[in-house]
Amino acid sequence: MVETMTAAVFKGAGTLTIEEVPVPEIKRPDDVLLRVDAASICGTDVHILEVPPGHPATEGAILGHEFVGEVVGRGDAVDHLQPGDKVVVDPNITCGTCLYCRQNKTNLCTNMTTLGIFIDGGFAPFCVAPASALHPYSATLPADKAVLAEPLSCVVNGAKKAAVVPGQSVVILGAGPIGQLFIEVLKANGAGTIVVSEPNPLRADTARKVDGVSIVSNETELAAELDNATGGGADLVVDAVGSLFGVALEHVNPGGTVLLFGMNETARSSVAQYWITRKEVRVLGTFISGGSFPETVRLLESGLVAPERIVTHRIGVKEIPDGIEMMRRKEAVKIVVTP
Ligand SMILES: [Zn+2]
Ligand SMILES: [Zn+2]
Repeated sequence: MVETMTAAVFKGAGTLTIEEVPVPEIKRPDDVLLRVDAASICGTDVHILEVPPGHPATEGAILGHEFVGEVVGRGDAVDHLQPGDKVVVDPNITCGTCLYCRQNKTNLCTNMTTLGIFIDGGFAPFCVAPASALHPYSATLPADKAVLAEPLSCVVNGAKKAAVVPGQSVVILGAGPIGQLFIEVLKANGAGTIVVSEPNPLRADTARKVDGVSIVSNETELAAELDNATGGGADLVVDAVGSLFGVALEHVNPGGTVLLFGMNETARSSVAQYWITRKEVRVLGTFISGGSFPETVRLLESGLVAPERIVTHRIGVKEIPDGIEMMRRKEAVKIVVTP
């Protein structure tokens, strides 16, 4: 008899169902079977379930691309991971052979697939993942903190590109989960003035828990706060929404950097291009983790960041559809699922 488990399965056209599915099996020599300790709901899950979809996904796939687990089985070729090891999962599986992989720019892989989006992921008690996607972490780190390693690694990748020097001023546009994690990482980088712009009260209150961060709710307040704090703009402006390039450009200092993180395929920003030239603004795009998982795990273990403050709800697999609806209505900042 095949063992089954309860999983959240994408059925296309805005539908996520809770189903009994077979427990996955190790098929390839480099496969690892994980017991999922924790997963979290991402804004991307919300986009996948929009009609029409804001992000593609494979019909029939178990969703959940942010998750951590314990090794319970391994293929014959895996000897560096043992049963009982705790691991965070890099859900983006790259090919290793395309032009970009060979240039060590794996986040630009042209054959990338993703656990929990295109193939089965972590919204279930068990998942099979290739050993190369797994990063061990100390068992002393709680699973509901380690689970934030995936979004945090994407933020670390962006922060590396922005290269904030201690004391520099920073504006973060949007305090969704990603904006919140930018607060953590840029503060650890030594940012001086940090101003966060967020109209949603729950998200603003969650950001307010961090010492020394100013929260504003609109652009007029942002301009006034910056005038007060820096006498001008900010050295770095992060668009953590994905449609605020024009706003970012207005508030960046001459010689400063605009970092575009938020993903919105349909957004079209109106931009006063003149200011990029005149202020010599550096404009940077950043996408997924780009090999930042190992240092992100060390960062979490170091205690230099406290991202768990963004977890507002904890649920089981059966409540995932409700959890996604809460995220859509912005009634939650981050929801952790314990399968
Ligand atoms: Zn995500
Ligand atoms: Zn590749």
